[in-house]
Amino acid sequence: MKLNSPLLEAENHYPVLIVGGGIVGAGIFRDLSLHGVPSLLVEKKDFSSQTSQSSSKMLHGGIRYLENLDFALVFEALHEKNLWLKLAPHLCYEQPFYMPVYKDALRPLWMVKCGLFLYDFLSSFQNSPHQTNNTAKTLKDIKHLRETGLTGSGVYYDAIVDDAKLTLEVIYDGLTHKASQALNHVALESVEIEGKLYKCHLKDGLTGDMRMITTDNLVFATGPFTDQLMNKLDIVKWAPKLLPSKGSHLWLSKEALPIKHPVVLTPKDGRVIFVIPRNGRVLVGTTEVQPEENFFDIDSSPLETDYLIHNINEYFPSAQVKKEDILSTFAGIRPLVKADSGDKGKTAREHKLFQPRSNLYLMLGGKYTTFRTMASDVAREICSKARIPYSSNKTKQPLKRPSAVLPFDPTTFTIENVQKAMENELVRTFEDLLIRRLGIPSLDHWDHELSFEEFFKEIEPELTNHFGINPLLK
Ligand SMILES: Cc1cc2nc3c(=O)[nH]c(=O)nc-3n(C[C@H](O)[C@H](O)[C@H](O)COP(=O)(O)OP(=O)(O)OC[C@H]3O[C@@H](n4cnc5c(N)ncnc54)[C@H](O)[C@@H]3O)c2cc1C
Repeated sequence: MKLNSPLLEAENHYPVLIVGGGIVGAGIFRDLSLHGVPSLLVEKKDFSSQTSQSSSKMLHGGIRYLENLDFALVFEALHEKNLWLKLAPHLCYEQPFYMPVYKDALRPLWMVKCGLFLYDFLSSFQNSPHQTNNTAKTLKDIKHLRETGLTGSGVYYDAIVDDAKLTLEVIYDGLTHKASQALNHVALESVEIEGKLYKCHLKDGLTGDMRMITTDNLVFATGPFTDQLMNKLDIVKWAPKLLPSKGSHLWLSKEALPIKHPVVLTPKDGRVIFVIPRNGRVLVGTTEVQPEENFFDIDSSPLETDYLIHNINEYFPSAQVKKEDILSTFAGIRPLVKADSGDKGKTAREHKLFQPRSNLYLMLGGKYTTFRTMASDVAREICSKARIPYSSNKTKQPLKRPSAVLPFDPTTFTIENVQKAMENELVRTFEDLLIRRLGIPSLDHWDHELSFEEFFKEIEPELTNHFGINPLLK
């Protein structure tokens, strides 16, 4: 397949250049467009292919942050969750999360009940109301749960989101400003500062084309990659701001763990593991380990996979989940901002805007759920400098364009339809199209020279392996 480079058609200058096409960059891009400020968004890989598609896929207040007394953060995140349930109901839905409580637990059932009341209170009672269940009801609702020592469960409401698709739709919404542009597989390689202007050297990773584009405002929404990138670019004095932590997930087959509702496990090591049934599979995560050097396209390690399987069998002993029940694994790096004291738990998911120069912005920390408020902090600053009236209410509108049509079926899975979908959805490779549609992790062996038919033939066994059947041709 011959690849074009949209980079070659971009303008020479943009008022704002945003680096990073995860949810935070997407949010800033949309917010600026809605305020009439055109910008260029560049993403080194595919849009939303890194941390923003490797989350636990929850829009949530963060029940565990209550213990840190992070009430402002929980309040903000709960209100954002409930807002997005209204703005994008096709991509997120509310679910009851069950917290089983055991005799030897750190928090007895009465304490869980108080916490859940506080959680609902902080949502201004927009959450569906929490409940507590006795042992019999808990065991009836959650199949295979360990009975020994169970004293009941607390149930609270959070949301499940299609993280990758929401990011795409936020980007599409930003494109409604005619002069705004979003380019995937385009990386920022180096920057020269000339007075107040930034000369940004950009490279198309698929074609190798290079371009220099100037901007008045440079925004980094590069999440966990920020410290490494700032080191490489060397444009300002930059001490590392992140305490990155790797989190891994497993997808299990529904048959291996047939539960109907999300369950929150609290093993004795103090971590939290979410078990979330979704689209005929069950998501299990996460771990918290020190990441290695490379943060791009990472996966779960054997040790992390064993840890998750071990805990699943501790809590659901009669299910007897085995490694063979794993359909796939994925991992991401949490972009946690260092606390002044260096205490990781304390700053957890708060976001912070760094501005080492008046027109250089770096948005760090936060979490998926709070992307709109993170974006707002950057957009407000840029608008205020340009004397453009700013109202965050503009971003409280529903998204305008859906991210993808339904999966192909045997009659629609033709080269013409695949190419049309790629044009409509800003997809540049067959591989990206499949990953976006099917939510599978990266296919390592994609060869750009292959025709669509050759490519599909090559990956067919891999698709069948991941899903049990080939989902495109069932
Ligand atoms: C395991 C795990 C579970 C999580 N679960 C949840 C959850 O359930 N709910 C929740 O609210 N939050 C959750 N989070 C947090 C949330 O996923 C992140 O806070 C959020 O996705 C970060 O988004 P981002 O846009 O900052 O980063 P990213 O999505 O990583 O985007 C940054 C982008 O910058 C790009 N980039 C890097 N260098 C360059 C360059 N030189 N040029 C161009 N582009 C570049 C990268 O390719 C990347 O796509 C979780 C995080 C992890 C790791």
